[in-house]
Formats: sequence, C-alpha cells, structure tokens
Amino acid sequence: MTDTTVLLGHGSGGQMMKRLIDEMFLEAFGNPALNEGNDAGVAPLGAGADGEAGSAPVRIAMSTDSFVVTPQFFPGGNIGRLAVCGTVNDVATSGARVRYLSCGFILEEGYPMDKLRTICQSMADTAREAGVAIITGDTKVVERGGADGVYINTAGVGELPAGAELSGSNCRPGDKVLVSGTLGDHGIAIMSQREGLAFAAPIESDAAPLNHLIAAVMEAAPHVRCFRDPTRGGLASTLNEFAAASNVEIEISEEALPVRDAVRGACEMLGYDVLQVANEGKMVAVVPPEEADAALAAMRASRYGENAAVIGEILPLAEDASPRVRVRTPWGSARVLDMLVGEQLPRIC
Ligand code: MG
Repeated sequence: MTDTTVLLGHGSGGQMMKRLIDEMFLEAFGNPALNEGNDAGVAPLGAGADGEAGSAPVRIAMSTDSFVVTPQFFPGGNIGRLAVCGTVNDVATSGARVRYLSCGFILEEGYPMDKLRTICQSMADTAREAGVAIITGDTKVVERGGADGVYINTAGVGELPAGAELSGSNCRPGDKVLVSGTLGDHGIAIMSQREGLAFAAPIESDAAPLNHLIAAVMEAAPHVRCFRDPTRGGLASTLNEFAAASNVEIEISEEALPVRDAVRGACEMLGYDVLQVANEGKMVAVVPPEEADAALAAMRASRYGENAAVIGEILPLAEDASPRVRVRTPWGSARVLDMLVGEQLPRIC
C-alpha cells in the first residue's frame, strides 16, 4: 500500500478502492468466500458445513453496506430506501433468496426526529416490497459535528437454492451482457440535487430492490452466469471486474446502451462518462447466448426492467492480451473502457 492516508478516492468504487480492498482488507481477512470478490459472500452453514460426510450444508449469502449519501433526501428516494435496496441487491446477485436484514444507525445529535421517521418509513416500505424482514439493529448517537446527520449500515442474509453457482468469474466467450434499464440516473440525480442544477426534464434516482427481477431472470435463464449491480464506478467497474475475474474481453455497443436523454445531456455538460456514473436500481447479467432472449424478456416483464437491453458480448482474450472492456461506437471504432481512477462524486450512496 503506497498511500499513507485514506483519501476520498478510496471510496469511489474505482481503481483506488480496488487497491485498498486488495492490499489492506483481503490481505488481512482473506478466505475462500471473500476472495471470490463477489458482492455477497457465499458460505456453508449447519450440518455438513465443516465437511462431515453424509449431509449437505445450507449455503447462505451475506452482504453489508454503509450509506453516507448527501443529501439524505433526493429526487426518487432517500438514504433509507437506498440502505435497504443496496443490501437486498447485493445479496440477491448471488442468486440467493434474500430473507433478513440488520440495520445500524449512526445519528448526529440534533438530527430532526421527523426526518428520521420518514427515513424509517421508506425502509419499512422498501423491505416490504422486497419481502425481507429487518430483524435486528443498532443505534449510536455521536455529538454534534461528529457525523453528518445520519449514516446507516445494513447487512443482509439469504439462502441459496441448490445448484446456484453464480460468480463474476463464470463469463465465457459468446455469452451476452444484459442491463436491466437506463444508466446513470442515480448519480446524476444526486449530483444535480447537491449542486442545485435544474435540467429540462427532472432526473430521479433509480433506487429499487431488484431481488424479484433477479429471481425472474434465474427462472427464465437457468444457466445465467452472474449478476452485479453497477453502483459506484458504474457499468465500467462492473464490466472490468467481470473481465478480470473471468480472464476475458468484454465488448459493449454504445448504441445499445439505454440512457435517458436528460442524463446523457447532463453527463456531456459536466464531463462525466455515463458508464462510470452510479446506479442504484440496475442489474447487469451475463447469460449464455441461447438464454439471452428469455433473460431479456424476463427483465422487461419485471418491475424496474422495462428498459432492459442486450448491450454486449463476452469475447475470448487474444494471446498475451490483458482482460479489458471495449465500447464499440456507432462508427465502428472502439475505445477501451477503464475503471474510474480517482473520485468522481463522494458520498453518492
Ligand atoms: Mg453491489
């Protein structure tokens, strides 16, 4: 680790965060479940978990996420909805049925109770929609100035169906890459709220629980390779993680990417690459080619999936080439899509 202090970029979802995870956290905590590098850790529990013969262990998926977004209320949601969606989606990407959440609040002295009540109501509504129960929690209060209003941590647990082996390392040449809807909505909604920018069309966060959409895709495409939600770092981070984990090249088509006109315009104005902007209600799926049509139809029939699209394909890695992601433009040229290097917008979620 060459950095001597923590920088905002270490929380970006891009290359700096990857370095911190690899060189600090994996170094300290590494184990087979963690080393897989997926959004949820999958591990055995119960009879047979320690390898004794004759019984098959239950496999659980577990994930945790902390929410520090500013402002806490924004078009399309608030920190509470985000805190439930983020963890539900991370657990669900493993293929698990998400069951239980924990919820820890870090509150700043002086925070208005009516705002906290609204946040909790959003969490309850979102948990109900996702079909999960918040079964434990924690409350801490720090003195004025010791935090910025409210931070929330959630953790989630789910149970894996037999045979589900989803991982970002499963991508194979020929597989199709799907995304469940328009890109960049969350990041641009937060940014425009924060900066007081107004666009011709209002831009709302896409924060949504996608566990039901994932279940529908798994039903329609039983050999789906992996899911991941393109949150911080955007689609660029998700696809680069898949390419590296599977040792492949990924090519996406710029024309196929679903992006709202208002978001595209905002990105052009602000100099952002929409592919590096955060989403909180979108899912990327990689599926074998023969199941791509069924997976796409299942996404489009799901709530939050009406703008789903097939956006690209997995390619074999050329001899001596490194895993990479390329974007093919409408004019036939291609550019390499890198992970975000530093910080684009701190405290986006
Ligand atoms: Mg995730």
